[in-house]
Amino acid sequence: MRHIAIPDSHDIFVLGDRPADDEYEPLPYGLTLDDAVIVRAYEVERGDLVVAEFRDPVKGKRLACHIPGPFRAEPHTFANCPCDGCVECDDVDAWTLADHSRLADVAIRFYCLAPAQDVLGGREPCVMVYRNAPIAVIREDAVERAKAAAPELEPLVGQLATEFRATDGGELETLAYLLRSAVMGGALPDDSHRRAEQMLARIEAVSA
Ligand SMILES: [Zn+2]
Ligand SMILES: [Zn+2]
Repeated sequence: MRHIAIPDSHDIFVLGDRPADDEYEPLPYGLTLDDAVIVRAYEVERGDLVVAEFRDPVKGKRLACHIPGPFRAEPHTFANCPCDGCVECDDVDAWTLADHSRLADVAIRFYCLAPAQDVLGGREPCVMVYRNAPIAVIREDAVERAKAAAPELEPLVGQLATEFRATDGGELETLAYLLRSAVMGGALPDDSHRRAEQMLARIEAVSA
């Protein structure tokens, strides 16, 4: 848990641990929240990993609201959104249409951290936030450094499967899953830590 002050606010930002819940993906490449900084939405840069937003202040404290699937930012103004219509953008349009004098406010109020995209089973809308909203991000250079240092997993999974004599697809999937979780620094299912540690020791031996 970190308590963080930022230059232009009297509030204290409380960045607690990510929930250990299946819904919350582990941060990639072994990154942790210690790598995160807090900036205003308009200061988020392309390639930053967006990890948390913050609730409204209560007695000067603003608690982190962790983002279940952290994403690389592709920030832009509302006017420059490439999404071609999504529920978030439609909401902003409706807000503007209700009172045309608001049109001038749009650029001041809203900022989009990533455009809408098609995902498995539907369409994720734009990530629209207040322009001034505090956002916890891991800067692009830190993400890229961690990525470069992370072991290449796919060839290793095959190699380790042979070494651990995985005999069927299910076992192979389990191996791959354990490896990824371990390398990503995520939670492991009960009783699998020893096995994951063995595999990690092998990874180190193989990649040395
Ligand atoms: Zn949109
Ligand atoms: Zn957008």
